[in-house]
Amino acid sequence: MTTELGYNNGVIADVEVITDVDDLVEQYIKDMWSHKSGNPYSSSDYKGLTFSCGCGEEHILRDTDYNLIALPVKFIFECRNGFMTAIRVKGILFQRSIEMWSCKSDIFFQAQEKMKEILDMINE
Ligand SMILES: [Zn+2]
Repeated sequence: MTTELGYNNGVIADVEVITDVDDLVEQYIKDMWSHKSGNPYSSSDYKGLTFSCGCGEEHILRDTDYNLIALPVKFIFECRNGFMTAIRVKGILFQRSIEMWSCKSDIFFQAQEKMKEILDMINE
């Protein structure tokens, strides 16, 4: 898989940053992502939980935007630096966040377009 470490002011991110659209499509389809509107009970309000973003910063789950969720407790967060990061929250009493992958937003949208094309081909 083609990956690179995320850099921001010389700090290396603790998450795998995907730079290849095909690699991202492959990672993305492993989980059944859906829009958060499909589950009105979804919430990223985990007190104090943070994640390492591909942009090199740590973000607070509760304060970062997301639109896509997957089961059991997974989110794709979109940070203000233009990175999308997939996170899994583990644990019931004591939660921790696990970074799955990260990518730049433009790669993410290219991957979405590609998946749409693939689906259109299948449906034809
Ligand atoms: Zn970020």
